[in-house]
Amino acid sequence: MSGNRQIGEQYRLMKRSGLDDLIKVLRVLDYRVIGPTESNGVIEFAELGDASELPWGLRDEQKPGSYSVSKGGDRAFEFSNGPTSLKRYFHPTERHLWTVDASGGQLQFEEARVQVPKYAFLGIRPCDLASLDILDQVFLNGVETNRYYESCRQNSLYVAVNCSSAGDLCFCASMETGPTARSGFDISLTELRSSDAYRVLIEIETDRGRSIVNQIDTSEAHENDLSLAREQSDGVARSMGRTLHTWGLRERLQENADDPAWADVAERCLTCGNCTMVCPTCFCTTVEDRASSHDQKYERWNTWDSCFSLDFTFVSGGALRQSSKSRYRQWLTHKLSTWVDQFGVSGCVGCGRCIAWCPVGIDITEEAARIGEPQARA
Ligand code: SF4
Ligand code: SF4
Repeated sequence: MSGNRQIGEQYRLMKRSGLDDLIKVLRVLDYRVIGPTESNGVIEFAELGDASELPWGLRDEQKPGSYSVSKGGDRAFEFSNGPTSLKRYFHPTERHLWTVDASGGQLQFEEARVQVPKYAFLGIRPCDLASLDILDQVFLNGVETNRYYESCRQNSLYVAVNCSSAGDLCFCASMETGPTARSGFDISLTELRSSDAYRVLIEIETDRGRSIVNQIDTSEAHENDLSLAREQSDGVARSMGRTLHTWGLRERLQENADDPAWADVAERCLTCGNCTMVCPTCFCTTVEDRASSHDQKYERWNTWDSCFSLDFTFVSGGALRQSSKSRYRQWLTHKLSTWVDQFGVSGCVGCGRCIAWCPVGIDITEEAARIGEPQARA
């Protein structure tokens, strides 16, 4: 939290009813408000009609290979992270690219016309916000610009929520992506933990954020509110459930492709690809052609894929990565090492999703620590 601007210009306080006002204002502005809600036993992103749909008083408990939601607390944002991230909105699971119509005797190509929604994302964790910076490197600053992603990013509004407790699988502090959002948002919210009534500290980062906050009922924030928010953030960073030691990691992974630890993790890995599906930054896709023989129209679709899939590297003569060892090694080495060579940043934001949603509980922080470190395996 910056102390450069005047507190009154940058910070406000709101009560619980302010969250209702905020959603109402966003909906009046024609945003589809996407935020966390409880559904089928998980807290996941979905479209919200009002603030009562937020997961008030719910916590998640996450362990390697395990996730559950329970009652506890009285706040809206007590949980860490659900299985869905913002990736599915900016980079949908499947996207129609074009159609070819062969019915008239000649091939007519037509680009798919896709309506890009106007989203307001409410309750984005700092690690998920950081994942968008990483996806920007892939989809905006790479070889080719992904037009859907670009339009969706430009149309969207971002309301971050700073973490007020740390999950057992979180390690955003090691990745320097949390627990407090630094940039990339219009407004950020911090639920203040104090004996007083429910209060949320609002930080305003952009002009459009300011114009929205001006339309809701808020009160003045003071230096002690900012101090409390800073103390909370420091406490969360200290109590983070996991740490990923990143010093020298890029080189260590690239220099130890034959480490026996790869074979050991491959014994446990099912190559199911769950980790890549829940990861907010994994972006690999394939293309599918869908034919409808009765009207001679053929469609090309872009769909999510995974480096754990055997077909992912299929070329003439077979798949390049036949063994589960080679596929796990590819995923981890790309994520934490060659991603830095490719995009200038790590591919991991420390959200912990891949650990919770791995059916056999493989922990990326433990596996990364074992490669090239014989003493870590002892
Ligand atoms: S690799 Fe795991 S911890 Fe890192 S961003 Fe992806 S899901 Fe989160
Ligand atoms: S690490 Fe876990 S989630 Fe990922 S492919 Fe292997 S078994 Fe599946």
